Amino acid sequence: MGHVGWNAPDFSTPPTFKKYSDTAPEYRRLAPGTNIEGECMGKDCPAFGKLVWCNLGENQNGEDILMMPGRCPLCKGGVKNGGRTLGFSKCSYEIEAFYDNGSGIAVKLVGDGLSGKASESDGFKTWLPEGKLLNYRKLTVTTTLL
Ligand SMILES: [Zn+2]
Repeated sequence: MGHVGWNAPDFSTPPTFKKYSDTAPEYRRLAPGTNIEGECMGKDCPAFGKLVWCNLGENQNGEDILMMPGRCPLCKGGVKNGGRTLGFSKCSYEIEAFYDNGSGIAVKLVGDGLSGKASESDGFKTWLPEGKLLNYRKLTVTTTLL
């Protein structure tokens, strides 16, 4: 049996603000809307083995992240384990998530971090993939560009 669901940080907690770097390579740049950070697995890709930001853009009608895993912006290939966290840039966002709390039951995630705005022009909002990760079974993200 393979990997089930998506392991990622607890998005019910407030996100971290991170500043853009002027010197970041192309594959480290976020686009407005939803972005997934993950490790490129394309052996011939310049970003192979490096963390890239996969740009999913705006999703006004909501998209289940588990159904649209991130792709490397350079080689368009998949990233390790479907990615490791989300990042939002120049948009408002709303997350509806269900996770397996260990008992095999999908529990709805609640908390202040699940909606907000990434309105800053000099950076983005993300959740650091540290500590305890949650095993998501459904994660619908709705974004509207600002
Ligand atoms: Zn790549």
